[in-house]
Amino acid sequence: MALTRRADGTLELGGVSLADLARDARIGTPAYVYDLDAIGAQARELQRAFEGAPHLVAYAVKANGAAHVVRTLLAEGCGADVVSGAELSLALRCGAAPDDIVFSGVAKTNAELDVAIGAGPRGIGAIQVESVEEISRIAARARAARKTVRISLRMNPGVDAQELDTHDYIATGHDGAKFGVPISSLSDALALLESAEVSPALSLAGIGAHVGSQFTTTDAYAASARVVFELARDVRKRFALAFVDAGGGFGIDYGAGCAASPPDFVRAARALQKEAGVADLALYCEPGRSLVGPFGVLLAQVIQKKESRKADAVRRWLMIDAGMNDLLRPALYQARHRIAALTDRGGERRAYRVVGPVCESSDDFGTHDLPAADFDLVALLDAGAYGYVMASTYNGRALPAEVFLRGGAIAHVNARAEADAWVEDRLRA
Ligand code: PLP
Repeated sequence: MALTRRADGTLELGGVSLADLARDARIGTPAYVYDLDAIGAQARELQRAFEGAPHLVAYAVKANGAAHVVRTLLAEGCGADVVSGAELSLALRCGAAPDDIVFSGVAKTNAELDVAIGAGPRGIGAIQVESVEEISRIAARARAARKTVRISLRMNPGVDAQELDTHDYIATGHDGAKFGVPISSLSDALALLESAEVSPALSLAGIGAHVGSQFTTTDAYAASARVVFELARDVRKRFALAFVDAGGGFGIDYGAGCAASPPDFVRAARALQKEAGVADLALYCEPGRSLVGPFGVLLAQVIQKKESRKADAVRRWLMIDAGMNDLLRPALYQARHRIAALTDRGGERRAYRVVGPVCESSDDFGTHDLPAADFDLVALLDAGAYGYVMASTYNGRALPAEVFLRGGAIAHVNARAEADAWVEDRLRA
């Protein structure tokens, strides 16, 4: 169901009126609202695309780390893809099985590695190695813990940056990226893994890649998966691999369209897995955005309007109480989120440049057609991923509230931080 507009013009998420939530004294604005039922349904649809073949949907916790969201996805049989010790601890505390967790990151600290190694008798499902240099460091920690720990090689398949067809900041699998083991270093990595220095402490369980985010077609994903699966075919002659990992990156429709659905990415990867002769290995994927992005909105109040004139042209500003500190994506990588008035009975439209209160010109959500009639509340759509997790207190602003909906009702409210929390914190310094 997710987002619908009632006949009376009010906007609903998960069957709940968003204006009612914004006016609820426990919630207010800015507030993120998530539809847990829709998140669960999205995960089920993705799981079905594997048609019973061995697999793991490792939810990328970085997209939205709220426990209600993480637990909803674990309940649908997902595992977790984490990129820090804190995300790893969160996934474990939400009930993820250690075997169902993979841990990526180019600069994992020893303390973070120890959390991964300490979880379960063989550590987590796989520590994803992103450089040859990291291998000896993980082996030393595993030896100290007297364990054989599973790792996987996160390869950098060197997919051309243009071919990746996404914003530079979220393209990770090209030759110039800091992520992953370059293919030219694979033989060194394998030799090290076979050496007496490393071999009893680490076992190579998988090989994978994650080349970027917000892909709207399967092309770049498939190009990377093909490289990974062909490498796996060779690597398994020397190591008992259990899985291949095609990564995350499934795009969503932010308003400009998205030709491929999340199951399309899985189907494309499965076809290539068969072609490469590695279809007996479990297929892992690491979606974040596509599981949560479309099912969350950011509610904001209109603070005031402003008009500025240049020659004959009039610019209409709409100043809202949510800013780049609440939703960073537009300022960080020129992302566009659709904006809707919470009450909209149709009729005449007016173009507004929607901006937040933060003292930065980049605190700008772009130009949007909104009702010419008065309205006091808006929703920034598709804000369920990379929203709250990137929020900050910049300009002394409080972190936004979060509301979790299930079964057409509020399941939980995470109240907005106290307005003076920032003042107290800075007074400590
Ligand atoms: N896996 C890794 C290693 C990532 O860095 C990311 C995000 O950048 C993801 C998975 C999730 O990507 P997405 O949210 O685009 O599915």
